Amino acid sequence: MSNPSSSSSSSPPPSSSPPEHVSKADCLFCKIRDGQIPATIVYRDERVLAFKDIGPKAPLHQLVIPLDHIETLAEAAPAHEALLGHMMLTAAQLARDAGHGDKGFRVVMNSGVGAGQTVFHLHLHILAGRSFGWPPG
Ligand code: 5GP
Ligand code: ZN
Repeated sequence: MSNPSSSSSSSPPPSSSPPEHVSKADCLFCKIRDGQIPATIVYRDERVLAFKDIGPKAPLHQLVIPLDHIETLAEAAPAHEALLGHMMLTAAQLARDAGHGDKGFRVVMNSGVGAGQTVFHLHLHILAGRSFGWPPG
């Protein structure tokens, strides 16, 4: 069986090829994206992935990540503007889908060690199902 990728160096990849994403080796969330580490996936599209947090801090605790590896919000670029907006709207949709649109929910993005970020693949927390204090701890 011939290898289509070697038949012509100028051929575009077949349309069924899996999309390639910006990745970082040994990134936990890149591995979840690629199915190398299991997670309870709640949503996926061509730009973002959402899954349940392994250590929930509220009855609803989900994470929305970009498929492309971006370390922190501090490192996000103007080119990521639409992606970041899409992450927010995805979070709102997931909160509504879980019945928290009216009752209220919180979205949090920790950027950097000083803010409590522990996984350095940018992510948005969606928290709901309990009351929240302000200011956050
Ligand atoms: P951060 O502290 O970086 O803002 O949030 C990282 C989040 O990732 C934490 O809430 C933590 O519970 C979650 N987390 C860490 N490891 C895993 C994992 O292997 N699977 C899932 N689903 N969540 C994880
Ligand atoms: Zn990553």
